[in-house]
Amino acid sequence: MSKGKTAKGTAIKQIEMRRCIVCRQVFHKSELIRIVKTSSGEILLDESGKIFGRGAYVCKSPTCAATLKKRHNLDKVFKTKLPNELYDKIISAVDPKEKIQM
Ligand SMILES: [Zn+2]
Repeated sequence: MSKGKTAKGTAIKQIEMRRCIVCRQVFHKSELIRIVKTSSGEILLDESGKIFGRGAYVCKSPTCAATLKKRHNLDKVFKTKLPNELYDKIISAVDPKEKIQM
């Protein structure tokens, strides 16, 4: 299974907020999925958050992931036609089971 918990209360305070390109809400980086265009023009789902390149962010909401695919928002961001495959990857990266959290 994946790492579910993050350590809280550490001294490191590097708050990096990014905007979801679908719902336009601002989230902490850890709550977003990063899609990156590398210098070679490849567009990848950046799960490590460390790939160098131009990035776009989508929050981990199943609704946003679905809307993103429907609207192909990333095509505009990266000015290229992206395959549905990539959008499907984003959808599967969003885990709806973990979303239920008040
Ligand atoms: Zn969103």
